[in-house]
Amino acid sequence: MVINFAAGPAKLPEEVLKEVQQELTDYNNTGMSIMEMSHRGSVYLKINEDAMKSCRELLKVPENYKILLMQGGGSGQFAAVCMNLMGKTGSADYAVTGTWSWKAYKEAQKYGNANLVFPKPENFTTIPPQNEWKLNPNASYLYYCDNETVDGVEFNFVPETNGIPLVCDMSSNFMSRSIDVSKFGLIFAGAQKNVGPAGVTVIIVREDMIGNAMKITPSVFDYMDVAKNNSVSNTPPTFIIYIMSRVFEWLKRNDGVEGMSKLAQKKSQLIYGTINKSNGFYTCPVDEQYRSRMNLPFRISGGDEALEKEFLQKAEKAGMVQLKGHRSVGGIRASLYNAISFENTETLNKFMNEFYEGKK
Ligand code: PMP
Repeated sequence: MVINFAAGPAKLPEEVLKEVQQELTDYNNTGMSIMEMSHRGSVYLKINEDAMKSCRELLKVPENYKILLMQGGGSGQFAAVCMNLMGKTGSADYAVTGTWSWKAYKEAQKYGNANLVFPKPENFTTIPPQNEWKLNPNASYLYYCDNETVDGVEFNFVPETNGIPLVCDMSSNFMSRSIDVSKFGLIFAGAQKNVGPAGVTVIIVREDMIGNAMKITPSVFDYMDVAKNNSVSNTPPTFIIYIMSRVFEWLKRNDGVEGMSKLAQKKSQLIYGTINKSNGFYTCPVDEQYRSRMNLPFRISGGDEALEKEFLQKAEKAGMVQLKGHRSVGGIRASLYNAISFENTETLNKFMNEFYEGKK
């Protein structure tokens, strides 16, 4: 086995993979695989319901919020959010703090007036203080990305909006800490980082946000339609949802999101500590207070590509894979999602220290 530090699709708990393997050809004595079952049959519908129930329980989602399971990934939601929510006033605010919120903002321009609440910086390394944000009181919502997967910028606060609904992309830090769902109009997250394989997106939306979809909204992207049909209006990715629901069970066995939060803190502090102690050998460009607990980007020796290549090759030889930074920023990126254990992180940390010592 290798240690997979990928940014997503990413490592899944081994325990879950083993369970899935066990049940692959015969689910619960039905004599067939989950993959082969009707999405309208009672066996699958129970899985669907359990997945939503567990999500509600893990994040303490209030009763007046719907949980939807949709396809189209995070990128699908960049558009779905606009088609469902932007029509109310025709405009929406975007706080762009990295690559993914920038993409969401670009997509939003197709559907109405999308406004940046602060100018796009050249490099995404910090979050401007809230008193510099220019909010439009007529916006249908304020959009932001809680954790920028590529840039390693994570919010440590929930923005204040004076009553404007908050829409948040939590794809890459979903279920890694507790959140007060009641502060949000809508939260979405692709499963493929912290809670499952690629193929399903979880949407948590306050009921009163639903019902103003633009006429052009495809039915499969219409929150009202999906909510009314319990997320089985068309064929859902049944196998993926089943695996996600197993990850939710695993989370419950491991102290839920509070357990993950403590672990994420401990893991990320270990690696950032090593970066900080390396006398500039390892550098992370992100403002310390907004450094991501999930995706840790760093450069070696001021961005020495030959040295970074050597680091990656040696890491791979030592069984640590997918540590290459996103092609747009280069360098190294260690993603420490929920399924990465503290021991896994210690292995990486030891390797980083040894690599540094060898180059001193
Ligand atoms: N938002 C964030 C924060 C992401 O990390 C990603 C994908 N890495 C996306 C959105 C886009 O998701 P998808 O590839 O599922 O469309």
